[in-house]
Amino acid sequence: MVETQDKSEDTATRDRLIEEIAARLGVRAERGRRFAELTSLRVGGEIDWVVVPETEEQAAAVAGALAEAGVAWRVLGAGSNVLADDEQHAYVVLTMREVKGEARFDGDRVSVSAGYSLPRLCVDAARRGLSGIEGLNGIPGTVGGALWMNAGAFGQEIGTVVESVRVARGGRVVEVPGSEITWDYRHTSFQDGELLLGATLLLPRDERILEHGRPADVLGAVAGVPLSAGDLYVTLTGCAPGIAGPQGNARGPDWRVLESDGTELYLRRDGASQPWRLAAVIRRPPNGTPWQAEYRDHQSGLPRTLRLTSLDAPGSSAFDLTLRLSQVETNVALEAPVFSVEVPRSASPITLDELRNARPGVRED
Ligand SMILES: Cc1cc2nc3c(=O)[nH]c(=O)nc-3n(C[C@H](O)[C@H](O)[C@H](O)COP(=O)(O)OP(=O)(O)OC[C@H]3O[C@@H](n4cnc5c(N)ncnc54)[C@H](O)[C@@H]3O)c2cc1C
Repeated sequence: MVETQDKSEDTATRDRLIEEIAARLGVRAERGRRFAELTSLRVGGEIDWVVVPETEEQAAAVAGALAEAGVAWRVLGAGSNVLADDEQHAYVVLTMREVKGEARFDGDRVSVSAGYSLPRLCVDAARRGLSGIEGLNGIPGTVGGALWMNAGAFGQEIGTVVESVRVARGGRVVEVPGSEITWDYRHTSFQDGELLLGATLLLPRDERILEHGRPADVLGAVAGVPLSAGDLYVTLTGCAPGIAGPQGNARGPDWRVLESDGTELYLRRDGASQPWRLAAVIRRPPNGTPWQAEYRDHQSGLPRTLRLTSLDAPGSSAFDLTLRLSQVETNVALEAPVFSVEVPRSASPITLDELRNARPGVRED
């Protein structure tokens, strides 16, 4: 945290100054908040004032005005790396959480404000095929917090992709080139008292290719669901090849269970006059994680919600994925270009482990 010296004469004068600054700059200033509400650890005592700017310019102006008035302040991001004590905190907390706006992408560059969520930025970038921060998507917190300490994971650090950082100086937004900042291991050359407002990152376009990956391994690495091509087909289409015996075992008048080769199909109907529908599939592959698929929210005979869950899988290989299907078209003719892949000549190889570590489609909450 950064702090300036509180030189205001007494608390009443200081409070008046804070109210006057907040009103003049049009920012919210709140009393009675506790660190326990603002940090991940959910501990910490009462804070005299919490000031909530919403733009980079406002944040810079507030920091400048507080410093000029001699009011002590500290900056807070998402509070994921802060342990505050239970005492009264007699200063202003300038929270950057609302200084988030939208991440603005332009080619390989993205300009983003300090309060923007780092995991969200990683997802935004991955969706645009940009790389360089995919390994950071499990780091909780804001972009500002990550810049402050050069956050990193899986061999990547935010500092390596920073083109410039916007910093509050003298009440204004000042752009500092990334090359002028020292980016050390979980530490930077930013000084106490500096407020980081946002940054422009240069993210290389992802041109890497995995050769000869087995479909189940690729799907497992990308989405966390290690289904073989055949199992994926069974699951998404709701068609189970190789299952014979339409009668199956009756479980009451409206349920049938069909079993074959490690697969159980659960069929259901809403009364004798209604058609049978696939309600669930349980699959126990000989060399893989057993899993089940549940089909719900049928419309015109087609399920709109599909939930895939692992059965009895240990921690890291467990999965629980819900897919919602919309605009489903069946029996669409696929043209030849669907099956051809153009690999750019500049593409370099990526290994399955690298892909797994980047976890582009996996969320762990
Ligand atoms: C479960 C968990 C996993 C984590 N994993 C990782 C990991 O893999 N790698 C890693 O590097 N870190 C990790 N962290 C630490 C933490 O997520 C990072 O430090 C993150 O960057 C903090 O961001 P924040 O917005 O929450 O900052 P805060 O916790 O709010 O603040 C942290 C520090 O940064 C300063 N700060 C925040 N925003 C600004 C700003 N705009 N201007 C100036 N100073 C600012 C604050 O004053 C404070 O000193 C993890 C934390 C948790 C709880």
